[in-house]
This record gives sequence, structure tokens and C-alpha cells, in this order.
Amino acid sequence: MNNTAPPPVQQDELLVQIQKMPHGDLHFCYDAASQATLIIAIDSTQRGPALGGCRYQNYPSLHAAISDVCMLAQGMTYKAALAGLPLGGGKAVIIKDKAQHDRKAVFRAFGKFVNQLGGRYITAVDAGTNVDDIQVAQQYSPYCTGLPHVHGFQRGDPSYYTTLGVVLGMECAVHHRLGKDSLKDVHVAIQGLGHVGYFLAQMLSERGAQITACDTNEALLQRAVQDFSVTPCAVDAIYDVAADIFSPCALGGTLNQHSVSRLRCDIIAGSANNQLASPEIGQLLADKQILYAPDYVINSGGLIFAAQQYLQTNEEAVKQHLSHVNETLNNLFSHALAQKKPTSLLADHMAQEILKDSKNS
Ligand code: NAD
Repeated sequence: MNNTAPPPVQQDELLVQIQKMPHGDLHFCYDAASQATLIIAIDSTQRGPALGGCRYQNYPSLHAAISDVCMLAQGMTYKAALAGLPLGGGKAVIIKDKAQHDRKAVFRAFGKFVNQLGGRYITAVDAGTNVDDIQVAQQYSPYCTGLPHVHGFQRGDPSYYTTLGVVLGMECAVHHRLGKDSLKDVHVAIQGLGHVGYFLAQMLSERGAQITACDTNEALLQRAVQDFSVTPCAVDAIYDVAADIFSPCALGGTLNQHSVSRLRCDIIAGSANNQLASPEIGQLLADKQILYAPDYVINSGGLIFAAQQYLQTNEEAVKQHLSHVNETLNNLFSHALAQKKPTSLLADHMAQEILKDSKNS
């Protein structure tokens, strides 16, 4: 008989992550043909099918991928609720590893995987994927959206509408924080000149704003300098720029204790998902009197576009629906001022209330 005590049971990180998804579920698929690992997280279908993009990127571990997909899926639930869409929240990730994947085979497998969920999850493009990938998936599943030339929509890339929403959000924020009615002469520091950042530089220059920007990709930085007379800035120096608005349009998690201590802006308004490294950063920003436009409110234009295409409306309906960004931010900014609470906290509460109401109705 072995009297050795069993090792203490470790609370598995994965289980903790799943327990944080009270309404949702997590799906895994390993496709032997393409050797790809595919994960879909459905955070909520309370208000409708879970719509969210598919990422194709490297992760340091499986846990990191799971943690990312779960967090992003929850963000989509809140984003859809606050945008007034009849949708839940979900997300997919495909792990890019050392194996030489046949890209088409990966997205064929992904399409089949999406289809198995019978419409509970609807996919679209996200970081690391493009319209061609989703078109491959679409051959195996109708639960794909955000594609060009579908139901009379010309565009496929959601970035244009995401950017339009960000600009509306900036206009709302400068009105509240600076008492200005336009972005003319407003100084914006943009972190990241990719799909959204480039459109943003274009739309801001059309509105007479002053722009400083950085990107780790020197070619993208030089393109914006040439096209829109953007003032270039070193990647790490962007936090020190004395600007009216800091606009994170690169990675998530860039707002932390250290970066916030360096910021010299009145407003944060950008497209990146999960901008706050931790929830407490919202309070830190409020203490510094920096008006923060919560990421999942201000960057909801792309989701609104993908949703309207899925609902088979038209691009005019997308533009009209974008006014939700403005209305929600107006509401949030007024409440934050009156209640002296961080906008990030109020946005979470507002989304939770909407979800509670939809459960009860
Ligand atoms: P993108 O990949 O096209 O652009 C990101 C850019 O950031 C790239 O040009 C990259 O070189 C640059 N970059 C990376 N690290 C950087 C750093 N440390 N400093 C400065 N630049 C850096 O992505 P995108 O589609 O433009 O999206 C930007 C952000 O907005 C992402 O976080 C994305 O998840 C989020 N978002 C995008 C959309 C959309 O419609 N595209 C919708 C919602 C949210």
C-alpha cells in the first residue's frame, strides 16, 4: 500500500479562465492536415449569435492563446451590447507556430470548425487574418461576415468604419474635455499606423488636426509623413509627446503604471483592444484627469459594419448606426463627471446592465 499523500490539487489556469465565462464555452480543434490548432471562445449568446474576428498569430503558450481569446470574446460581448446590436460576443484564434502551415488548408479547416458550431459563432477578419482567408472559410460555412461585394457592400476591411467611429469618439471627447466643437488644431499622438492608424491620420488631416505618430515599421511611418505631413516620433517617445489626445492604435495593454505616468495628454481615444494593462489603470487615468474613451466603445465601428453586413442591410445603415458611438460616449463622459468615477468602470457597468436587462426580457 502506498501511503504517500497525493500532490495538492493545483487550480488549473485554464479552468479559472473558463469559469470567468459564465454564459459561454470554449472549443478546440487540431487539424491534422494543416497541423493548425484552432480555438473558438463563445463568451455570450444572450443577445444573439456571438460575432467576433479570427486572429492568426504566435503565442508563447497555449494558455496565453486561451487567455487572449477568452478576454477578447468578453470584450466583444460588451462591445455588441453597448453598440445596441442583437449579438453576443465571441472570438477565434489560430495559433501560428513553427510548423509551415498551408494557409488555405488552415482556413478550410477553420471554416469547417466554424460551421460545426451551427451559427452560434460568426467569424470575420482580425489581427493576422485578411479578407482572402475569410473567403476561404466561407466556402465551408455561411457564418462569415465582413467581406467585400456581399449584399451590396463594397468594402470588406472593417478598418475604415472602425476609424470613422474613433474620429466620432475623438470629437465627442474634445467637446467634453476641451470645450471644442471640432478637431481643427487639436494635436493627436498616434501609436501605430497600420490599417486604422493610416485611415486615422488621413481623416484627422482632413479635419485640420496636428498629428505626431510612430510605428515600429519605418516604411509605414514614412508613408504617413509623406501623405499627411505627420510629424514622426520614435516608438518609445510617443508617451512623452505633449498632445491633446493620445491614440493607441497598435497593441493592447500599452496603458500601464509606467506609460501613464509619462502621458502629457488630456484624452485617450484609440482603436486598440484591451488598452488598459489592468482594470486599476482606469482609476489612475481618472486621478490624472485624463478622459479615457473606453476601447470597446470607441472601436466598435468595425463590429457595427460586420454586423450590418451579416444582417444584410447596407453601408448607409452602418453610418447611421455609428452615431451609437457618440451617444454612448456622451452618456459615459457625463456620468463619469457627475459620479467622479472612471469611464472604464462605468462602461463595464453599463454593458452589464444591458446584459441583465436582455436576460430578464
Ligand atoms: P494593424 O496590424 O494593421 O496595425 C498595427 C500597427 O501597429 C502596425 O503598423 C504595427 O507595425 C504597429 N505597431 C506594433 N507595435 C507597435 C509599437 N510598439 N509602437 C508603435 N507601433 C506599433 O492593426 P489595425 O487593424 O490597424 O488595428 C490596430 C488596433 O486596433 C489593434 O489593436 C486592433 O486589434 C484594434 N482594432 C482594429 C479594428 C479594425 O477594424 N482594424 C477594429 C477594432 C479594434
